[in-house]
Formats: sequence, structure tokens, C-alpha cells
Amino acid sequence: MTGKKILVKSYGCLPLTEDDRTANGVNMKTFLEEVNEKINGVAIQRCYHCRKCTAGCPLAFAMEYNPNKVVKMIQMVMKKEVLGSSTIWLCASCETCITRCPNEVDIARMMDVLREMAIAAGGGAKEKNVLSFHQAFLASIKSRGRINEPFMMVDYKLKSGDFFSDMGMGISMFMKGKLSLSSPKTRDIDTIRKIFDKTKNL
Ligand code: SF4
Ligand code: SF4
Repeated sequence: MTGKKILVKSYGCLPLTEDDRTANGVNMKTFLEEVNEKINGVAIQRCYHCRKCTAGCPLAFAMEYNPNKVVKMIQMVMKKEVLGSSTIWLCASCETCITRCPNEVDIARMMDVLREMAIAAGGGAKEKNVLSFHQAFLASIKSRGRINEPFMMVDYKLKSGDFFSDMGMGISMFMKGKLSLSSPKTRDIDTIRKIFDKTKNL
């Protein structure tokens, strides 16, 4: 058979030819290939849209697109819509989806990858202040190896500029002893910091 060699064949994905891929000297990848490469596990086109992940997802009710719909949108090369959606920032990485998936598609890892790609693309987070919360959470872990809620919330407030929205609840929890200023520090903090150093460029 003659003609251009098709490099990508997957359900719902537009195929690239060798000429497409090297157009203008640029080595192009499909959105699906980019995501699969970063997941580095089970290819997401193994999804057959049974929706078990979506049925079990505790946050699907609030998401702009259901988890299995995000898989479909990646296959349909809807990169701008996926990276600009609130869904990827609402995912809590609880991993309910992968425990339910009959095909071992790692939706939680996929959401992680999509968040990384959204930041790398300069788009940030659609959900207001979610990125500030992520950064405050990680800064607290890096500093102490554990979460210290009061310090993390102060950091979050400074990063987000959202000073008063839940002030009443914070004071109430503090008065009831639910927030401690002196949470213990992880003994082996050096190992935690090495993990951060090793993963910062991944
Ligand atoms: S549970 Fe797995 S196969 Fe089913 S829709 Fe979700 S990702 Fe796809
Ligand atoms: S990891 Fe994210 S997508 Fe999966 S069930 Fe939890 S919240 Fe939903």
C-alpha cells in the first residue's frame, strides 16, 4: 500500500501523518500523545466510557465536564477547553476513579498532568484561588513535612488576597481548639525536601 504512513490511530483521535508531524520543521504531537507520555502508564484511550469513574467521583456534581468526558475531549483534541476548564482544578486526587475503572485508566494522574500542562501553558487555574491553595498546601508540607492549618491559611490568604471570606469559621474553629498553632514537625524533614528538589523539574 502506498501513501503517507499514519503514526497515530486511536478511537476518536485525529491521526497525524509523517508530513503533518514534521510540518515547518516542528516535531508535533497530538494532545492525546502529550498526555499519555506524561502519564507514563496505561494509555487513556483504553477508556470505553462506561462512566464508572464519573458515577463514583465525589466532585463530579460540581465539575464543568465529567471525568470520562475529559478523556473524550482529549481524544477530540479540545486542548484549549480542557486546560481552561475548572474540572481539572476541582479534582481532589482522591483516586476513587482509578479504583473503579475496569481498564485501570488513571484519571487522577491524568488530572495532575493536565494541571501541570495548564500552568506550563501560562493559563493558570480557572477556579478562583485554587492555585493559591495548592501552593500554600505544598509550601506547608515542604516547610514542616505536615500541614499546619493556621499557618497554611495565613499563607493562602496572603497569596489569594481573599482575607475575609471564611474568617468567622476560622475563629470559631480556633476557639473550639480545632486549630493548633503547634502541630508537630516531621522528624525526617530532609527527605521531604529532597523529594521536592527531585520533582520540581518533572
Ligand atoms: S471507569 Fe475507566 S473505562 Fe469507565 S469511563 Fe471511567 S476511565 Fe473510562
Ligand atoms: S481523583 Fe478526581 S476525578 Fe477521580 S474520583 Fe477523585 S475527584 Fe473525581
